Amino acid sequence: MSKPTSDEQALGRRSFLRGAAFLAAAAPILTEAQLAHAAQAAAAPTGLALHGQSPNAPPADMVLINANENPLGPSKAACDAIARIAPLGGRYDRYGETEMLVRTFAAQNGLKPENVAAYAGSSEPLHYAVLAFTSPTRSFITADPSYEAGMYAAKTSQAKVIKVPLTADHAHDVKAMVAADPNAGVIYICNPNNPTGTLTTKQDIVWALENKPAGAIVLVDEAYIHLADTADALDLVAAGKDLIVLRTFSKIYGMAGIRCGFAVARPDLLAKLTPFGQNAMPITASAAARASLEDAALIPARKKLIGDVRRDTFAWLKANNYKVIGEPQSNCFMIDTGRDGKAVIAAMKARNVMIGRTWPIWPNAVRVSVGTPEEMAKFKTAFKAVMSA
Ligand code: PLP
Repeated sequence: MSKPTSDEQALGRRSFLRGAAFLAAAAPILTEAQLAHAAQAAAAPTGLALHGQSPNAPPADMVLINANENPLGPSKAACDAIARIAPLGGRYDRYGETEMLVRTFAAQNGLKPENVAAYAGSSEPLHYAVLAFTSPTRSFITADPSYEAGMYAAKTSQAKVIKVPLTADHAHDVKAMVAADPNAGVIYICNPNNPTGTLTTKQDIVWALENKPAGAIVLVDEAYIHLADTADALDLVAAGKDLIVLRTFSKIYGMAGIRCGFAVARPDLLAKLTPFGQNAMPITASAAARASLEDAALIPARKKLIGDVRRDTFAWLKANNYKVIGEPQSNCFMIDTGRDGKAVIAAMKARNVMIGRTWPIWPNAVRVSVGTPEEMAKFKTAFKAVMSA
């Protein structure tokens, strides 16, 4: 048989790209906003007038603690960086904003720039990682409850989805996850976990890496890592392990609408994601993200602010005999309401407070995001009224 010519090889690559594009088109890349919106659409309508520019926008006075957003928004430095770079928006990324962002993050974390790929949010690399490493013969292993976007992506690759309940202390049950399928493709660990805000130890993540099936990757989603007192997994990337770490600027950095995130991994693992999509970054997002990284005071200040509101809310819930699940260290937590969670969500919405969704494994538990002190005061009033009804 003759050796393929370079044209044929290029053609082969193109047809692979077409296949990948077809797969990626088969299901949308789901974000928290879409998952949160779907849950609210199922809840009772408010009957309130809409103030937003879109007829689908929630009323301006609605308390939005349903999508784990950061009400503090982008930092002043990030907004200034956007204002500075916006006039250059007529050009592509001529000054290398995205490269500088990647270099900054890599240098801050003892990584090489080739370990870091920037995307418009972490939903995109999450989706692509699942498409790249799962298939009809390589399954997707996730905790239950956990963030669902990867599970939906696994439907596109026609992979088996195996849900493994959290341990009694609400960590990922890494032993059961690793044992779940010798042909696993992705073991997804969300740390801190969405929706519970609870932690999985670094030791357990290392154990999963050391004991996982050959060929599988551990996908460590660190969307909320800055809010918690726990070690991150970036040193495991530097050590060349089989993991991809996801980071986002949507949470502590308050840039959910501006869109920036990273996949952090060995270059050969990152290369497996690129056939599924690799668009250029908006220079505004790259500039804002770099300004956020360079602001050393930002994370400690926001971690304290959000942590203080969370602790105050927990104290109030406890004093009123409402049950928070586990010991969350994030900007979201679950309350076991002891009744149908979806009905609680609908009743809260009728009182102008949008809280998060339920998960099938715990139909009585609702997720709540940490808002401003004023928003949480409104949450408390509405929640007490709903629970006493
Ligand atoms: N991963 C987790 C665990 C999330 O909760 C979210 C959003 O809420 C994302 C990833 C995706 O965030 P984004 O695409 O805004 O970076």
